Amino acid sequence: MIGSRVRTRYAPSPTGFMHIGNLRTALYEYLIAKSNSGDFVLRIEDTDQGRFVDGAIDTIYNSLRMVGIDYDEGPDIGGNYGPYIQSERLEIYSKYAEQLVKEGKAYYCFCNKERLESLHKESSELFLGYDRHCRDLPKEEVIRLLSEGVPYVIRQKVPLEGSTTFEDSVFGKITVSNSEIEDQILIKTDGYPTYNFANVIDDHLMNITHVVRGSEYLSSTPKYNLLYESFGWEIPTYIHLPLIMGKNDDGTISKLSKRHGATSFEGLINEGYLAEAILNYIVLLGWCPEGNQEIFSLGELIKVFDIKGISKSPSIFDYDKLRWFNAEYIRNMSLENFTNMCIPYFKKATSKEFSWSKVASILQQRVTQLTQIPEMIKFLDILPDYSKELFINKKSKTNIENSKVVLKNVIDELENINVWDYDNLHNALINLATKLEMKNGTVMWPTRIAISGMQVTPGGAIEILEILGKGESIKRLKVGLEKLS
Ligand code: GLU
Repeated sequence: MIGSRVRTRYAPSPTGFMHIGNLRTALYEYLIAKSNSGDFVLRIEDTDQGRFVDGAIDTIYNSLRMVGIDYDEGPDIGGNYGPYIQSERLEIYSKYAEQLVKEGKAYYCFCNKERLESLHKESSELFLGYDRHCRDLPKEEVIRLLSEGVPYVIRQKVPLEGSTTFEDSVFGKITVSNSEIEDQILIKTDGYPTYNFANVIDDHLMNITHVVRGSEYLSSTPKYNLLYESFGWEIPTYIHLPLIMGKNDDGTISKLSKRHGATSFEGLINEGYLAEAILNYIVLLGWCPEGNQEIFSLGELIKVFDIKGISKSPSIFDYDKLRWFNAEYIRNMSLENFTNMCIPYFKKATSKEFSWSKVASILQQRVTQLTQIPEMIKFLDILPDYSKELFINKKSKTNIENSKVVLKNVIDELENINVWDYDNLHNALINLATKLEMKNGTVMWPTRIAISGMQVTPGGAIEILEILGKGESIKRLKVGLEKLS
């Protein structure tokens, strides 16, 4: 009997980066467990040794840690149902496979690669799977082949008649005729189980109550059900998740892939998205909360998440929407945290030292992706070469002539400032505008152009002056004045 305590598992294969779809699966499993005061288990499915990628297990640990999805049991922390890495459980799978062979529910198959390949060729597109050649080999023949050491696999003996039905919490009732189900391999020639076999054994032995995975596994689920039935085990609740699609340039949609943008968690982090924003965005890819709230912390999600809100229609990954979430998260951070997060990006733009929290404060309201930062603050490092036309601005009522007057006066005023802070700079420039009988903007515009060399800057003239410091500011103002003369 599956226990009454809800237990879910995230079962990634260590084959590289963490795809957004996998992270969503992990998140939903976590939320289903936690919203029911249950356990969330991490299990590494590394039975396909050919696809194993070095470092991929660490990527899984790190990604989960970064988004705050804590597992209760897993390879690195242990638990009562270990080992949690499939390659360390080979004896378990072979024991259960042998049990099925003994009971006549599975069989040894000695067909070699060449035979299987020729089967494929003969039936071309119509290939319906293995032709069950070894399904009814005489016992003596099996014993002979085994004693000769002929390599074999163990295959499931799928009933030839009848049908298999299962209930998916999202996709509803699904029935497949058994004649369409292949006698799938349970144990491969190398002694490793297939994913299809191992996941059933492990989900049962680990007391998993809810199996959450991508809808690409829907078509394999009848095979899993037949295995559960063969063993007489209780079938878990299935929750298959909708596909994640991307928008193509021509307006159509197709399965999310590299051409749409980053498709992995790491890729998005490298593009300057925050882990929390990514998590918040992807929870909404396929799940709809009851109200209109869109911003959720993980703690809030645990309270409101409900399987009933999962949709079966494909969800579209919208990078603009993700940027919106990211900007929201950036704006709502404390300045201190935001500053720390920006430091690596500051270092990309300059080796000079500035008051980084001041730089961060002018960026916080404007940045939507952290990767925009180096470009936005490059002007702090060196004054870009700019054209004097930038001084002309209709709205600020500036032209070459009055900009010259402004810069000359600004230099004089600022040279007299001893305590270089925001208030003093502000007062000096505002008083200057009054003295020159000009709009504030007429003083600010040329000042900002001269100290930044750019038409659009994060922060206004006073903030930039403060960050650059007195020496550098006056130097740049003089360069501007010279340009105008
Ligand atoms: N190892 C499978 C994968 O990474 C897991 C599928 C499942 O959750 O059962 O796709």
